[in-house]
Amino acid sequence: MTKAEREKWKSYIRERVELNPATMCWEWQQACEKEFGGRRRRGYSVAKYTINGKRTKISGHRLSYLAFVGNITSDLFVCHTCDVPWCVNPHHLFLGTHQDNMDDMIRKGRKTVPVVPYENRRRGAKHYRAVLLEEDLPVIVERLLAGETQDAIAEDYGITKYMVSRIRRKKAWMHVPEVRDAKYAAGHSIRLTQKKADAIRRLHDSGYSHSKLAAAFDVSLATIYDVLAKRTWSSAC
Ligand SMILES: [Zn+2]
Repeated sequence: MTKAEREKWKSYIRERVELNPATMCWEWQQACEKEFGGRRRRGYSVAKYTINGKRTKISGHRLSYLAFVGNITSDLFVCHTCDVPWCVNPHHLFLGTHQDNMDDMIRKGRKTVPVVPYENRRRGAKHYRAVLLEEDLPVIVERLLAGETQDAIAEDYGITKYMVSRIRRKKAWMHVPEVRDAKYAAGHSIRLTQKKADAIRRLHDSGYSHSKLAAAFDVSLATIYDVLAKRTWSSAC
């Protein structure tokens, strides 16, 4: 970052923060609040910039470190002494390795490892990074049961497909009864039907590749292989 660029980013940052007099945190006012499933949530601050004609995103605290402090060796993380994800006060930022970041998180009880007793852990919507609220879960489960794609649900709530899959596989939000008690169609992907499975086999016979089929039916390659090998949906045409 050149000196001129630094000055530009410094004023960019100053325009977007508000000083919290109690904590001295520079609280990022804009992009850190995002619409997720109709609700506003705070997370890491994000700045957008253009580099070589390409729009790129950078976290506000990383940008702040670059502008106010100096370069970041690529394998280092910018960590917070104040533990506020949306704070970009350069005095609250320090460089650390992945290990430092982990040690720091554990020391502050921010990481859910056994140092935090299970009953004290921040679960669900209390987790500072949570995008979902408890009341969203019954709706998500209902949509999964109705056979909606995980992609569509993820998109609507601003969460990753991986998170939807974790809910479906009962790896997350298990303290919500609807998630815990949901009875999904067992064994095979709920995205397929017998009709679709038969179509996959026909299309494969007429020369469609596995990857094309996976994309067309919005399922994993493994699912396609399972269908073709008749490990799933075998009561075929
Ligand atoms: Zn701070």
